Amino acid sequence: LANKKFHPEPTTVKVGNTTIGPGNFTIMAGPCAVETKEQLFTIAKAVKAAGATILRGGAYKPRTSPYSFQGLEEEGLKYMQEAKAATGLSTICEVVSLDAIEAAVKYVDMIQIGARNMQNFILLKEAGQSGLPVLLKRGLCATIDEWLNAAEYIIAEGNPNVVLCERGIRTFETSTRNTLDLSAVPVLQQRTHLPIIVDPSHSTGSYKYVAPMAKAATACNADGLMIEVHNDPAHALSDGPQSLTFAKFAALASELSPYCQLV
Ligand code: PEP
Ligand code: MN
Repeated sequence: LANKKFHPEPTTVKVGNTTIGPGNFTIMAGPCAVETKEQLFTIAKAVKAAGATILRGGAYKPRTSPYSFQGLEEEGLKYMQEAKAATGLSTICEVVSLDAIEAAVKYVDMIQIGARNMQNFILLKEAGQSGLPVLLKRGLCATIDEWLNAAEYIIAEGNPNVVLCERGIRTFETSTRNTLDLSAVPVLQQRTHLPIIVDPSHSTGSYKYVAPMAKAATACNADGLMIEVHNDPAHALSDGPQSLTFAKFAALASELSPYCQLV
């Protein structure tokens, strides 16, 4: 179902009041984690002003350590809904459990399956039945075949609205958090009709590398970007080192605008 051979036309995925796919370049931006309502609103306004059309914000955080901030859960989803009402941005939130999917359908426009759950097949099936478009991130050690099979699980449940997100893979290199596999973009464009977006934040782990990798993603015709932005990266509850300040995000978005059509 994900294979281009049987579906040559590129797929356009509707997310709230915007779309991801041919003809526009989507920037999803926002904090790694929703921390407070004020934090989310401040960030939402800033990313919208710079050209983002989808607000990201994690309410359920799959952290490496159980002692790290785990997210506001349903309260965070409510703030996402309020930020959407205040700004008109569409919204996306990661889900890590069946309960989280049930909650997310009440509050956000798109759900994200994170790298750590890319082969959580029960979660994939449930996402396929949720009725919401799904952003499927590549697993930390997943091949493109495994990733496309994961997409197949969602579509086979009757949900064709899947967007793939390259977010870096594990390699022997330790200078970046992961290794951004940009070649996945043209490879996928040969093999699937699904839109593909690139996450230069989780792939590099450092704000210093986000802009060059974001530009590289536009050069290989990705359908969009997911970028972490924070009002105070030094004090972020998660992923501060890779988060862009408002000024850096706005500068990047304006540098990108001649090369891609922002909606
Ligand atoms: C995230 O988007 O906040 C996230 C946890 O991403 P990934 O699953 O790619 O690590
Ligand atoms: Mn993050």
